[in-house]
Amino acid sequence: MTHGSTRPRPKMPPDGDSFVLRSGWVATMAAGTGDLPGHDVRVEDGVITGIGPDLDSHGLPSIDARGCLVLPGLVDTHRHTWETLVRGVGADWLQGHYFAGIHRGARLRFTPDDVRLGTLLGLLDALDEGVTTVVDWSHIIETAEHAAAAVDAITQAGPRVVFGFGGGTRQWQDLPSPIPLDADLARRIRAEHFAVGPRSLHSMAIAARGPEFSDMTAVEHDWRLADELDLPISVHVGGGLKALTYRPIARLRDHGLLRPGTTYIHGNHLSDEDWAHIAGSGGHVSLVPEVDLMMGIGDLPTNRVRAAGLQPSLSTDEVASGSGSLMTAIRTVLAAERARANGAALRAGRSPATVTLTAREALEFATVGGAAACGLADRTGSLVPGKDADLLVVNLGALKFSPVNDPVDQFILSGDRSDVEAVAVRGRFLKYRGKLVQRDRGVLDAAASARDRIFRELGKQVGRHWLPRDLDAPDWFTTRGAAGEPAAPGDAEDTR
Ligand SMILES: [Zn+2]
Repeated sequence: MTHGSTRPRPKMPPDGDSFVLRSGWVATMAAGTGDLPGHDVRVEDGVITGIGPDLDSHGLPSIDARGCLVLPGLVDTHRHTWETLVRGVGADWLQGHYFAGIHRGARLRFTPDDVRLGTLLGLLDALDEGVTTVVDWSHIIETAEHAAAAVDAITQAGPRVVFGFGGGTRQWQDLPSPIPLDADLARRIRAEHFAVGPRSLHSMAIAARGPEFSDMTAVEHDWRLADELDLPISVHVGGGLKALTYRPIARLRDHGLLRPGTTYIHGNHLSDEDWAHIAGSGGHVSLVPEVDLMMGIGDLPTNRVRAAGLQPSLSTDEVASGSGSLMTAIRTVLAAERARANGAALRAGRSPATVTLTAREALEFATVGGAAACGLADRTGSLVPGKDADLLVVNLGALKFSPVNDPVDQFILSGDRSDVEAVAVRGRFLKYRGKLVQRDRGVLDAAASARDRIFRELGKQVGRHWLPRDLDAPDWFTTRGAAGEPAAPGDAEDTR
């Protein structure tokens, strides 16, 4: 490929969703297709209509992609975007701190406008890194106004979004909760915002709490609601030790609730038998590499998931205690899986002979695997004529890539958002020339003042370390381990 010293400055079309990307290193991520150096990608009305060398332009504007890697946009299958306003407060939190800080603290202060700002900022953050599809696991929907605010942000930000209706504070207190999701509110959100055709960029899912966060009567209600509204389910299962006593997959199976198209998030403490049942039911998996390892949720089940015949997807979860970076998730899942396998070999007295997960397989998790989990395999996740043009264009001109020997592997090893030259969702550029199209300073200022108010109400200060007392977390999340003890009073703050 051409790797000139000049940074490509493609002249993007001022508007519209039709163009030809010229002479990029095209990595389609489609099965059976290798990398295609010096190839063009033609996009018409948002759809890929050709991939090849020297394509006929059909009269469309050309964009020079020499020196660039062209990939399908990344897919994040589980991200609580609303929490973006409390970004970074939990760098030293464990799972119990998180439940105290977020579910007994921050969430109580969120107005509809806070939800709008957090969602908008979270989605723009994802787009900036080249993530074109997000499952927005929105469990802050207290009212129809909160939902409208989230949908407003989704529409404004522009990526492909599966909006996961996850209830509000009523459903997330006193866990496991007997309170079902608000069916009337779900119906209303479905009718008002997601009565959409198959070509829409936006769809809805039921972000269900499942057997570890709600009792089985509520679980059955929430699953019935998904059936009634014809929506897929996304559910946290098997994260943290409570999975060992709650046995979520066995209970779902006993109630006949293992369904095709359901995405199971975390899964650290599920058994091989559980994974076999998930695979047999047509379920999907969302691994959460960074947050799971950082917050004591559990080791990654990557090898067991794959042994069951499932291709995982990846997710970032939240930015209170994680980076929100899917590239970090890719590198973390690689490191964790290799550490597991290599460590086992070394402890057995032999040097590892082969890797159990390749870099490119980890990238597949974040592209084709993610698209499949979202039920969007026919629209996104790989670059194939007929699919939508969800594109990630990487500028390989940075010093860290020089010399370029394998663009894809080098991007996996060291790429980040600063290398993302352009991002398109169904052919519409939302980032180009290395900058988000939406660079409204007002959003950042509004988010900062919303944060100021939330912090003031919580009695927190910017820059002051906050370690919530996990005594305020539900019993089964605390590090005390003694179920049934009353939560201690206190302001859930510690300082250093
Ligand atoms: Zn989550």
